[in-house]
Amino acid sequence: MSSYIVLLGGPGSGKGTQAEILVEELGLPQVSTGELFREHLKDGTELGSLAREFMDRGELVPDEVTIGMVRERLARPDCTSGALLDGFPRTIPQAEGLDALLAEMEAELTVVPYIKVNRDTLLQRLAGRWTCRQCSTMYHVVFSPSFKAGICDRCGGQLYQRADDTPETQLRRIDVYFEQTAELIEWYGKKGLLVEIDGEQSIGAVGAELLMAVREQCRT
Ligand code: ADP
Ligand code: ADP
Ligand code: ZN
Repeated sequence: MSSYIVLLGGPGSGKGTQAEILVEELGLPQVSTGELFREHLKDGTELGSLAREFMDRGELVPDEVTIGMVRERLARPDCTSGALLDGFPRTIPQAEGLDALLAEMEAELTVVPYIKVNRDTLLQRLAGRWTCRQCSTMYHVVFSPSFKAGICDRCGGQLYQRADDTPETQLRRIDVYFEQTAELIEWYGKKGLLVEIDGEQSIGAVGAELLMAVREQCRT
């Protein structure tokens, strides 16, 4: 049976961190729109330069552009039996777009875990976030430091702070989340797909709760 899963949560709630754990356990490909946009930026594509002006401000890239990019990604062969979506959808039109895409694939969403974290925690997490340039593993200066400062434990790559992780952009992204994305909690709740996860726990504890929730839904 196919499983398409949406990870919902604010910027800094731990979606990327947990997605890493989940993809390994479930064998699903991770589809992160933030990562896809960053790849376009790196490759200097037209889509990348369009996205940059929104990303630099902490605003959302327009829905049609984002949905188009996801459509292309889900059409690749590794997504035919499921995917873990991280950072998409972020608006109700995107959620409707996803439903339409899945319907075309004769698939549907299995479960939407919502990683619940309060505003202060979101800010603390974003402020200390470092990412591996090579393998995208996430670290946190206080909560999840690498063994050697500035170096990835996994691949020896260099850690960097994202260009859009300035204090100003972080605040804007959090506001945008509460203004435009948080309404998806109720939206997916009404569809009976939402499972709330306490995101204030340690990375391992959140991961365990998430896995349990996902396995339960994928079985039924
Ligand atoms: P974070 O990990 O802080 O939540 P992401 O890496 O998911 O950030 O996203 C970085 C930026 O990419 C966002 O601020 C936004 O500009 C853009 N972006 C990512 N996903 C979406 C989306 N689904 N819709 C619109 N813009 C998006
Ligand atoms: P998102 O993808 O939702 O924006 P990330 O996975 O990038 O969030 O996590 C943001 C930061 O918080 C990273 O530095 C990560 O190491 C850290 N982090 C993630 N989950 C936890 C947790 N449960 N406890 C403490 N720090 C965490
Ligand atoms: Zn690495």
